[in-house]
Amino acid sequence: MKQIQAIRGTQDILPGEVERWYRVEAAAREVFGRYGVGEIRTPIFEDSQVFVKGTGETTDVVQKEMYRFTDLGDNDITLRPEGTPPVVRAYLQHKLGQGRSIDRYFYCGPMFRYERPQKGRYRQFHQIGVEVLGAESARVDAEVIAMAMQWLAELEVASPTLKLNTVGDEETRIAYREILVAAQAERLDELCGDCRARHVSNPLRVFDCKKPGCQAVIETLPVIQESLSAAADRHFNGVREALADWDIQAEIDPRLVRGLDYYRQTVFEITSSALGAQDSLLGGGRYDGLVAQMGGEDVPGVGFASGTERILLAMPEAPAEAATDVFVIAFDEGSVDTTHRFVHELRQAGLRALTYAYGGRNKRAQSKAARRSGAPWQLVVGPDEMAADRYTLRRLADNHEEVVSAGELPAVAARLVRHKASS
Ligand code: AMP
Repeated sequence: MKQIQAIRGTQDILPGEVERWYRVEAAAREVFGRYGVGEIRTPIFEDSQVFVKGTGETTDVVQKEMYRFTDLGDNDITLRPEGTPPVVRAYLQHKLGQGRSIDRYFYCGPMFRYERPQKGRYRQFHQIGVEVLGAESARVDAEVIAMAMQWLAELEVASPTLKLNTVGDEETRIAYREILVAAQAERLDELCGDCRARHVSNPLRVFDCKKPGCQAVIETLPVIQESLSAAADRHFNGVREALADWDIQAEIDPRLVRGLDYYRQTVFEITSSALGAQDSLLGGGRYDGLVAQMGGEDVPGVGFASGTERILLAMPEAPAEAATDVFVIAFDEGSVDTTHRFVHELRQAGLRALTYAYGGRNKRAQSKAARRSGAPWQLVVGPDEMAADRYTLRRLADNHEEVVSAGELPAVAARLVRHKASS
């Protein structure tokens, strides 16, 4: 029978790799915690309207990339392609944010988009994202950016570059849209089919197109900065000043737009030169208007979403860490029971202990398994040791030995391993 494979664009995360995932997630919890951000967990599937209304009907995500299906109860369901609309849905459903509070959430988990898979782009991928609801201050935009930069720095991500732009407020967008549509209309025959459709439905999205023909046109299109309203200009300056005040370098990229409809004012992206074509580690911005669009009051929001797979690609390889502290070897069949009792006692004492003394595996086979485990400590149980009640814990790196009785073993081993962990 042909071996069944994981679905194209999905990946297994195996032991040995998953530890790096823990590190990314633990650093997120720790760094975000410093900013008062708490975790929220929403379902992996939602009523499709959450994304149609939230992400926006004219986006590529909604039009071409959703895993959308009708379930057995005739409900229109979508596997979440992004985290922001579900967080806003939960925020409204549970009436969070009462009394003009500032609410800060992060989420962490798989997202699903039917995209063409390549390095750094998958159909099931993982995002860690932050949403701050209820604050309109430009300082909060800067805080969210500072938090993302701090997190990436603690993960030692290679050369993160912050790109910053504004897509203006409503007033700006209305004025700019007119100017942009007129400019695009003059060059329409040079744009690709998708961009000709965007020209009508969502002209700002043309800036997202990577096709060379469209890129040539994009270079010549007027940028939104020239149409900024006084309020939008003030907001953008506020973000830049706060970042400069905190020594965070930002590259202003007047053509940066994000692929989602709901962004207003600040947009940003952090890229890494360690990545190939898919060089965006995370992206985000301000989304005042989204909460109202999803049926709530006029609550401002700002946040970002990062791709965990991409962060891992841009992080240094971690030295492989042993998953076992002490490997216990049975010298002969008569030592197997004591070996297993020791392993049990070591585990009870909080150590990671392992044995391969199962069903006739001889000492050589066990020693091989011990080496493969990378366990720093070894203990051999044999008839002589049992007769004398003296067992030798040996550290492989330098052959340092500690001789203990059976009764002393768990406590001594715990002390030795902890000593190593804290050194
Ligand atoms: P977006 O939600 O499209 O703004 O993307 C935010 C971040 O999610 C990007 O910067 C990527 O790191 C990551 N990302 C988005 N789409 C994918 C994908 N198909 N595969 C892997 N990572 C992705």
